[in-house]
Amino acid sequence: MRVEFLSADLSAALHAQIGQVRHWAFDLDDTLYEPKSGVFRDVRNRIAQYVENRLELNPAEAKTLRDQYHKKYGATLGGLIAHHGIVAEEYLGMVHAVSLETLTPCAERRKLLAALPGKRHIFTNSSVAHAERVLRQLNLLDLVDCIFDVAATNWRPKPQQVAYDGFLKRIAATPDEVILFEDSAVNLVPAKALGMVTVLIEGAGSPNLERNRAYENAADHKSEDLNHSLQMLLNLVVGNES
Ligand SMILES: [Mg+2]
Repeated sequence: MRVEFLSADLSAALHAQIGQVRHWAFDLDDTLYEPKSGVFRDVRNRIAQYVENRLELNPAEAKTLRDQYHKKYGATLGGLIAHHGIVAEEYLGMVHAVSLETLTPCAERRKLLAALPGKRHIFTNSSVAHAERVLRQLNLLDLVDCIFDVAATNWRPKPQQVAYDGFLKRIAATPDEVILFEDSAVNLVPAKALGMVTVLIEGAGSPNLERNRAYENAADHKSEDLNHSLQMLLNLVVGNES
């Protein structure tokens, strides 16, 4: 698997900062599990269906609106709440009612996550209910200290700055103590600006590859494989301590 540093400078910065990291924060969907599982593709399809049905739009109109809301609010839900009076809980319950049978626990991933020095958090634009269900299916729920979801951002999700401020407050951390793993590079931009260490995970089948290119300079490093990235970082931490 390929692990790529985007520049020698960024690599040096990562080496310098990794020893201070005490909080390991992970996006959930398509980051902590692989896009090829199809789970988040199914969520996206259900979002499309929900917008078409609820707002009585044809598929093309619904897609235009979703793209607008995604760009402006970070998630379709933000626009649905602001402009259509949609009740968040109803929406989240509908779009997350997907099968998780393609998600299988990975013993190596569990071992690597358990070995991280510090706390592990989920920072997601989905819901606590969805995150818990996914983590239980992956056999990772007991390893997670905090799940910070879209409700906790008061429906102003990543990449809105306020989401990152709220997350840092919740976990009682300063940015330089945090490393954030994301499959969506745009969500790393505010994290990098704050001073977090940033990792872009682009698993096989990621739908974000093209869009990520515009924002990938916000990543300290990127990898196609989360386990490989965790192993590399663990080696750095151990190296820093010796
Ligand atoms: Mg994601």
